[in-house]
Amino acid sequence: MDRDRNEFDALIIGGGFFGCSLAVHLRQTRQLRVVLLEAGPELLQRASHSNQARVHNGYHYPRSLLTALRSRINYPRFLAQFRDCVDESFDKYYAVSRNFSKVTANQFRLFCTTIGAPITPAPTAIRKMFDADLIEEVFTVQECAFDAVKLRQRMVTEMEASLVDVRLSTDALRVRQLPGGKLGVECSTSNGRQELTAHRVFNCTYSRINRLLDASGLPLIPLKHELTEIALVEVPPEVKGMGITVMCGPFFSVMPFPSRGLHSFSHVRYTPHCQWQDATDRPYMDPYAVLAGRPRQSNYLRMVMDARRYMPVLTGCRHVDSLMEVKTVLPRSEMDDSRPILLRKDQGLPNLDCIMGAKIDNVFDMIDYVSAADSIVSQETA
Ligand SMILES: Cc1cc2nc3c(=O)[nH]c(=O)nc-3n(C[C@H](O)[C@H](O)[C@H](O)COP(=O)(O)OP(=O)(O)OC[C@H]3O[C@@H](n4cnc5c(N)ncnc54)[C@H](O)[C@@H]3O)c2cc1C
Repeated sequence: MDRDRNEFDALIIGGGFFGCSLAVHLRQTRQLRVVLLEAGPELLQRASHSNQARVHNGYHYPRSLLTALRSRINYPRFLAQFRDCVDESFDKYYAVSRNFSKVTANQFRLFCTTIGAPITPAPTAIRKMFDADLIEEVFTVQECAFDAVKLRQRMVTEMEASLVDVRLSTDALRVRQLPGGKLGVECSTSNGRQELTAHRVFNCTYSRINRLLDASGLPLIPLKHELTEIALVEVPPEVKGMGITVMCGPFFSVMPFPSRGLHSFSHVRYTPHCQWQDATDRPYMDPYAVLAGRPRQSNYLRMVMDARRYMPVLTGCRHVDSLMEVKTVLPRSEMDDSRPILLRKDQGLPNLDCIMGAKIDNVFDMIDYVSAADSIVSQETA
């Protein structure tokens, strides 16, 4: 075995947006020898690609002030750093439903004022597109969408420039402590099994964080998974330059999905196909295997049938494709719809850290923590 090629300061498992951002940060700021293992054949192919592509500016979180305020802080940072990967060209509207909504229009306006998020009544022509019996108010807001393919290209370029050692098609199976304190990560590659060693290991595998822990006999982190469907549609001409979100309950969003030139269509009730929680009292289920084992069936018709009651023009949408992916959140997010980043230091082993960013802009919270301390402090922030 070539020792130098397999010994590192930091080993990152998972080549999504979070793993790649961490790798670049560690190379650029600390000049560490960094290796990144990615199970798939390319970077940023899983949740970092198959999501709704919203760069959150706080509006989405009237039930979690902390998440809303973090979004307000991270939104301008994301735009400043990734403006070339963002589509700001469309008009963004948040509507509030009269029934079943967890906020009223007044509460929503007050919430936006509290977090300092720009909000104005939508133009009359836009309001007329909604059924006034069902929608109480429509607001113009400031939010944008990211282009997942441009983001991937950007991260690939930054990884190359920073000389991160990237190992694609390399599945990290287990981690163990070696004599002397280093960690050994056993992985499966096209050339068979091998073990890489490092002083610090970062598990950035999002929905699969517990797979490595379970296989290594380490304590699991309580996580809730949803198998989700984001439909991709062609919208009718009247809706082309628009992003629409109905708040706050069992409603829907239709907004540009820049990397495909389509709109994403999601619905709080029909986007999740099934859900489960990782628990120690039953066998662990690999989320990727759950997804791969499900018949590919779409809930799109249910989504559009409901949404068009609120916005009849959506009847003219044409379903083109659906992105199926596992969405993972902390169980407490169930209560308040918060999206905190998860940072767990020494998860079962010294120098094994688990990081799960629940939304793209949380990446700055991760960088802040890594920058602030030599070792990441165990916490879940808002
Ligand atoms: C349906 C849905 C909608 C969403 N909408 C939004 C939104 O609008 N805005 C927003 O900000 N966020 C959204 N999110 C959340 C956002 O997508 C995630 O927070 C973010 O993509 C997580 O990035 P990541 O790098 O942690 O995960 P991922 O991108 O999933 O990366 C994890 C990587 O780890 C690799 N991996 C897994 N296991 C192993 C292993 N054993 N060995 C090696 N590699 C491994 C995977 O192949 C993958 O590339 C959404 C998520 C979903 C699923």
